Amino acid sequence: MAISDLRRVGHWVDNKAFAGNSGRAAAVTNPATGAVTREVALAHVADSREVIESAAAAFPAWRDTSLAKRVATVFRFRELLNQRKEELAEIITGEHGKVLSDALGEVARGQEVVEFACGIPHLIKGGFSENASSSVDVHSTRQPLGVVGIVAPFNFPAMVPMWFFPIAIAAGNTVVLKPSEKAPSAALWMAELWAEAGLPAGVFNVLQGDKIAVDELLSHRAVKAVSFVGSTPVAQYVYAKGTSHGKRVQALGGAKNHAVVLPDADLDLAADAMVNAGFGSAGERCMAVSAVVAVGALADSLVTKIAARARAIRTGDGTRNTDMGPLVTAAHRDRVASYVDRAEQEGAQLVLDGRQVTADGGRDGFWLGPTLLDHVTPDMSCYTDEIFGPVLSVLRVDSYDEALELINANPYGNGTAIFTNDGGAARRFQNEVEVGMIGINVPIPVPMAYYSFGGWKNSLFGDTHAHGTEGVHFFTRGKVVTTRWRAPRDGGLNLGFPQTV
Ligand code: NAD
Repeated sequence: MAISDLRRVGHWVDNKAFAGNSGRAAAVTNPATGAVTREVALAHVADSREVIESAAAAFPAWRDTSLAKRVATVFRFRELLNQRKEELAEIITGEHGKVLSDALGEVARGQEVVEFACGIPHLIKGGFSENASSSVDVHSTRQPLGVVGIVAPFNFPAMVPMWFFPIAIAAGNTVVLKPSEKAPSAALWMAELWAEAGLPAGVFNVLQGDKIAVDELLSHRAVKAVSFVGSTPVAQYVYAKGTSHGKRVQALGGAKNHAVVLPDADLDLAADAMVNAGFGSAGERCMAVSAVVAVGALADSLVTKIAARARAIRTGDGTRNTDMGPLVTAAHRDRVASYVDRAEQEGAQLVLDGRQVTADGGRDGFWLGPTLLDHVTPDMSCYTDEIFGPVLSVLRVDSYDEALELINANPYGNGTAIFTNDGGAARRFQNEVEVGMIGINVPIPVPMAYYSFGGWKNSLFGDTHAHGTEGVHFFTRGKVVTTRWRAPRDGGLNLGFPQTV
């Protein structure tokens, strides 16, 4: 079927669908069948400006809408989302491939941020000091920025945008969301939901596209801040370009997450956790465990337990009764498989080979089963690079200190975990490890909405993490007001620098 015959996914502006005029489009596939199911518009500069300028025009009225009305709208969005989350999960599975229960989990984690944003009146409440100087009062307030851009990756088409837009909107900003071209439909579904919730036209907009659209967000004078999530090279680029245009930028990048298993850990619980966190969502999570660091003599036994569990995983179409779906595109599947080829050549021991998987899904689906590599060393490409697929590498070390040194030498610092029954060792680890999010006997330590999400080192460029208090600060700026109501007796000239009296 020609791409032009397929349902076209366009932009969303002023609470209406907008096809755009670029004439550019990309194919969207169902990863479980390999079929092209839709085409997504790719904006050119003029389309991008139209969307951004609509958001800019909507800003003054939205900023001046009372907190009570803004919160009521966000609350209605939360209610509608909660009622209709299955629809969104189906869209995610159809374009990303993750199994439906996982897609529902993604929506639930996004919804938590919507719920957090309903507390915005309290979160942006300032302070007040009466009589700071004689007859002088001081108060602080936080105000919205204007238009904010959100650029999302393919792997969480709903949750990652929801890390940002509920807070941005509740705080009084207007939003332009640029979804991934690989999974563009969830954003449109959420845009329609906002309209149904009563959000005024122009407050939440969707701009479909690629680098051209992102570059316009990074350089257009109406855009005041950009929240980006994606791979490290693009995050670096986005941060450099956005800040060079005077924008506030938070750019969350890639990851290589280690899970350390100490000799005293419960190996069955640890093996369960490695499999869940290594192969869930086919390893396409920025918080997936991709490197298991086995400390001491437990390695053989741990590898045996992980392999037994991984063999039981049912790989297949996420709408069927399966545990793990396909990879997002054929090109990505081939890239991940090439790391397995190279690992073998470089001397890793292939315990489980996902290239041989028989999947419960379409013949042309982008399949790769769970893959387990043992005796991986830090110089192998399966360790040095972010693979972003269902490939778990086991590195063997002799001591806690060696494990810590390995993690701290890694250029990424998104998430990490330690499995142990030794509270002292866990306490040492959380203090010494140079990573932003730590799990103690928790393999995917994604913080709750009221804490902030973000890594260290090459996993985040900028100063501010997502959601929680840091998210509120990112989407607002502070102002301090000093007030004096003068009585006639206070008159007179004084050219000196004001001092408290
Ligand atoms: P990606 O970097 O290819 O794309 C992310 C976004 O950037 C997309 O919207 C894409 O259209 C846009 N983009 C791509 N190339 C661009 C360019 N040259 N200039 C401007 N914009 C560009 O990432 P992806 O493959 O969609 O997502 C997977 C990556 O995202 C992984 O590296 C993963 O670790 C990372 N990720 C990180 C987090 C986190 O919280 N740190 C969360 C989810 C995903």
